[in-house]
Amino acid sequence: MITPEIRKQYTATIGIECHVQLKTVSKLFSGAGNDAREAAPNTLVSHIDFGLPGALPVLNQEAVHLAVRAAFALNTEPQQYSYFERKHYFYPDLPMGYQISQLAKPIIVGGTLEFDVPEEGSRKTVRINRVQMESDAGKSVHPAGKDYSLVDLNRAGTPLLEIVSEADMHSAAEAKAYAKELYLHMRYADVSDCNLYYGNMRFDVNVSVSKTAEWGTRTETKNINSFRTVEKTIEYEINRQIEVLEKGGVIVQETRGWDDAKQKTFTQRTKENAEDYRYMPDPDLPPIELDEDYIKAIHAEMPVMPNEWRRRLLSLGLERSQIDILLDAGIDFEDENILGLVEATMDDKDLSKFLANWNVNVFIPLLRDNKVTLGVDNQKHLQTAVYELVKANKLSSTNAKALFEDLVAQTGLPDSIEKYAEAKGLVQESDEGAIVAIVQQVLSDNVKAADDVRNGEAKAIGFLVGQVMKQSQGKANPQLAQQLIKRELGL
Ligand code: MN
Repeated sequence: MITPEIRKQYTATIGIECHVQLKTVSKLFSGAGNDAREAAPNTLVSHIDFGLPGALPVLNQEAVHLAVRAAFALNTEPQQYSYFERKHYFYPDLPMGYQISQLAKPIIVGGTLEFDVPEEGSRKTVRINRVQMESDAGKSVHPAGKDYSLVDLNRAGTPLLEIVSEADMHSAAEAKAYAKELYLHMRYADVSDCNLYYGNMRFDVNVSVSKTAEWGTRTETKNINSFRTVEKTIEYEINRQIEVLEKGGVIVQETRGWDDAKQKTFTQRTKENAEDYRYMPDPDLPPIELDEDYIKAIHAEMPVMPNEWRRRLLSLGLERSQIDILLDAGIDFEDENILGLVEATMDDKDLSKFLANWNVNVFIPLLRDNKVTLGVDNQKHLQTAVYELVKANKLSSTNAKALFEDLVAQTGLPDSIEKYAEAKGLVQESDEGAIVAIVQQVLSDNVKAADDVRNGEAKAIGFLVGQVMKQSQGKANPQLAQQLIKRELGL
């Protein structure tokens, strides 16, 4: 058992390599399709992915375009000169006998990712070491209970970016926050679908612990496909390594995997060093040379990135947790243009804050639960109408929610939201005269409660307001009802 005192003597050092699948139509060096999600095995394979002798790869221009976007998303610029190398190893699902990757001259060098670590209440900047373009291997499938394995080459040749961070992280919480932020950046930059379930984004975590300023021996746990597992893996590895060291053992540099059933990491193989791969420039592929105009044009098309959205939304006085919800939904429901609509109202801060809250509390939960779609025009129409009604005290927040739920479940919206709300009995009575009459009736029907309020029993007023609401069939404006009760009681 590692006591907190022992744990405190060690510093963990963490670096993350992340493979991101680029959302191109075809593969990195062939015309075969790149969307393997629903495809039958070995149907998205060309002679190039198969590695047939004499097959010549041709670089997919769109993959380069997306890599350049990734550079800007990581707060840097692409390298004007980069080239591909062959990384040799044997896998049954790698028919070429090598992976095409980049070592000496990758397409991105440097960069940063800046993010909050909510668990630690801190802000963190992690440096990016490099980003290389490379092709993926195929997949080995091991049918249960059979004494053979199958090979599916649909994924062979899929374009990847491998994003290598510096070992700048020191806790599982930081690493999880980094992984999540990288995900958001790649999605906002529209580089990848980042579907973790389909393996569009996979994390390899390097962890070491040490009692001194010198790093300890690291292990690499590969192919993690959830943010939560990134966190659990690191937590587990830190504890495991400290335990080994405390018992006088040594850490072996190796590749490990995460066993989700047992909630622990396990040894896969001892780690090779770079020289074992016999890297060599790929003689079939010319270097990538990007001219400045090309780079500038892509820079100009970059969308607003998460940190800029955060800055804008923070200026509205929103909570961090609300902003996170808006940022996730902003990209998950891109067609609804939620952030764009909030932003369009930014010179009317009340309205934009209302819309932001409204999205977080009402619309986004509906999108997530029912998969309703509303569309930009309908959203504008509905949300501004609801805002006007709430502002004019004609709609309580409860009724506003009921109205919204009613309307999004229908196809098409009525021209006048107000008339529709009236017909549904949702518009509240803010006419003093009408409410005063009800208040007077309620006070004479409930003498004891009225006396209690006069004698300073604050709770009783809630009961009286409730009675007014009941008498008005829920239409009275409760704030106004409360004011009128006090006035009638001479308070
Ligand atoms: Mn790689």
